Amino acid sequence: MAVFSRCSVVSTAARTPTSAAATTFSYLIRALSPSFSSSSSSSTFDPETDLNRGKPAGLGTLKREPKGRNVQWAFLGCPGVGKGTYASRLSNLLGVPHIATGDLVRDELASSGPLSSQLKEIVNQGKLVSDEIIIDLLSKRLEKGEAKGESGFILDGFPRTVRQAEILEGVTDIDLVINLKLREEALLAKCLGRRICSECGGNYNVASIDIKAENGSPGMYMAPLPPPPECASKLITRPDDTEEVVKKRLRIYQTMTQPVEDFYRSRGKLVEFDLPGGIPESWPKLLRALNLEDHDDKQSAAA
Ligand code: AMP
Repeated sequence: MAVFSRCSVVSTAARTPTSAAATTFSYLIRALSPSFSSSSSSSTFDPETDLNRGKPAGLGTLKREPKGRNVQWAFLGCPGVGKGTYASRLSNLLGVPHIATGDLVRDELASSGPLSSQLKEIVNQGKLVSDEIIIDLLSKRLEKGEAKGESGFILDGFPRTVRQAEILEGVTDIDLVINLKLREEALLAKCLGRRICSECGGNYNVASIDIKAENGSPGMYMAPLPPPPECASKLITRPDDTEEVVKKRLRIYQTMTQPVEDFYRSRGKLVEFDLPGGIPESWPKLLRALNLEDHDDKQSAAA
């Protein structure tokens, strides 16, 4: 797997946690607790720690990240679009944690905690977990990260409802929301082809997607993403990646999560990105769309 250098456009200062950044993070953690009410938060949030407040948080703000605070980005997009893949690559590139709420839910499911059986039924049916539960899981994850000195994040799978977006917006200023888009016919195939290594958690795909050009729409090819030999015998399929459940998750995305796109669009924070194909075509284009550079990727391409 490629090792990425940090991005060239985020200043060194922006990557170094300071006490101001820690204050922002603690605030987020406290305010994300289930008892939080968004109306009570806005007056207490400290604008000193959130220099993007009031500015259009489009791509230009990348170059003037507030000192002492790392990026706070989120990914939106239908199931199967590749949020996890690109969020994880960007997290390596920018040196911020990739926090996938789906992973938090699956970790909870795998534990023998009190929520486990309740969550199993919800997730396996393709439904959304309640805002309270997901916010509790996210708060705990942020709290652990803060204890380790983490700063910034790339969220994947959160927010998924307008209420979650409102709560998040009430406690911190998300800089950028990347809305990944892929043609519908590819989404189902990608979910059905997804395989996870039961040992390391690596994400692979056995689907070979080859959509022919038709009626003015260009063709699209997405090669399978095979596992390395050490994972090949340990692959499992997610229980919610069956055809019936994926179709339901796509419908739920349209009703519950598409309004979140509008929420961020109206705040000038949404970057729309149509995936042109697999990782080799999409990754460099996504970096360009975000005004980022990946030196290691360039070097390996030149080698
Ligand atoms: P994902 O891996 O993102 O597809 O998430 C897997 C499942 O976890 C979803 O189908 C939901 O049941 C649950 N989940 C993950 N994130 C959220 C969220 N932000 N809100 C509600 N449920 C979530």
